[in-house]
Amino acid sequence: MPVKIAVLKETRANERRVAMVPAVADKLAKLGCEIHMQAGAGIASRIPDEAFKKITTAANPQGLVSDADIVVSVQPPAADVVNAMKEGSILLSFVYAHKEPELTKLLRDKRITTLAMELVPRITRAQAMDALSSQAALAGYYGALLGATSIARMMPMTTFATGSIRPGTILVMGVGVAGLSAIATARRIGAKVEGYDVRPEVKEQVESLGAKFIDTGVDARGEGGYARELTQEEKDKIAAVVTKHIQAADIIITTAAIPGRPSPKLISKAQVDGMKNGAVIIDLAADGGGNCEYTQPGQSVQVGQVTINAPLNVPSLLAEHASELYAKNQYNLIELFVKDGAINIDWTDEVLAKSALTHGGEIKNEAAKKAVEGA
Ligand code: NAD
Repeated sequence: MPVKIAVLKETRANERRVAMVPAVADKLAKLGCEIHMQAGAGIASRIPDEAFKKITTAANPQGLVSDADIVVSVQPPAADVVNAMKEGSILLSFVYAHKEPELTKLLRDKRITTLAMELVPRITRAQAMDALSSQAALAGYYGALLGATSIARMMPMTTFATGSIRPGTILVMGVGVAGLSAIATARRIGAKVEGYDVRPEVKEQVESLGAKFIDTGVDARGEGGYARELTQEEKDKIAAVVTKHIQAADIIITTAAIPGRPSPKLISKAQVDGMKNGAVIIDLAADGGGNCEYTQPGQSVQVGQVTINAPLNVPSLLAEHASELYAKNQYNLIELFVKDGAINIDWTDEVLAKSALTHGGEIKNEAAKKAVEGA
């Protein structure tokens, strides 16, 4: 019996991605899987059903998942779809349990094995499965270009018959995966680039891309390579250094995040009020509330002569490539537990164990368990 994989069509607002692309479907077939896809699932990513070979399509998601061994999606499925899933079947999707407590309880109670894409550990071996990274890299690229096309200036230093114009300045605040991608893109379009982060170890990475690192002397390294929240004293010390960089920039791209917490506010209203006329902030942290005090998630607002643009779900704006990378991330995870048309999850494998949100009627991830079930 082949392993049956059901691919859902995304239904949430602003979601254009799909969890399957034709090349990955072909590779899964070689692993002994049979793909069943909700009709039109790839349309918003510009992938018509006909681009897939050897798959079957169905209109109804409940019917589709009812006999599936594995269900794949980008955003977590609706409760009625989870309810239709087979007990003991596997879901691969972003979930973010603290935002989805009821759905997480349902996955637990339906004894679904949920491999939550946001829980894939950030270790070297799991890089090819790390959808947070693949999607963040796309967002950073898009943010830099959106910034560059939102202002009335050119970025590269250019010489005309009438004389030269100076390069634009782009400041990237929060230099994780998205920030590094934004810096690389900003450099490619010829901007003068500065990077700032509370983790001092990123200095070398920023400099290796030809940008300048702003050193504030505050070290906010937290657990697992992520940043921790700052004290008021630390915030004041940082503000004293970064304000002049904020106010000299043409474009600021913010990407700062702390896992499981609202986005930290990196730019105050007072700092925006002192920014250059015509400057723009592209707030890539809008899904978590944003990094600027003026940010309205999902909107572009004008404050004096400064624009603060905070698009939601930015990877989805590059749906074609975002879907391709996401589907490959999921394939690499599936390859760990599907062999010769059979499922066998080795729970001693760190990647699978740490990615598990629910399994066997329990919430396996400690932080999610606390958020959903209480202490
Ligand atoms: P993230 O999305 O959690 O945060 C983005 C950036 O914001 C981070 O660099 C963080 O330090 C920064 N930040 C948080 N609070 C801030 C503040 N108040 N001011 C300024 N900056 C602030 O980060 P991410 O892109 O998911 O990366 C997180 C970590 O995981 C990094 O250490 C990264 O190198 C690591 N990582 C490792 C692997 C791997 O080895 N497989 C893969 C991806 C990421």
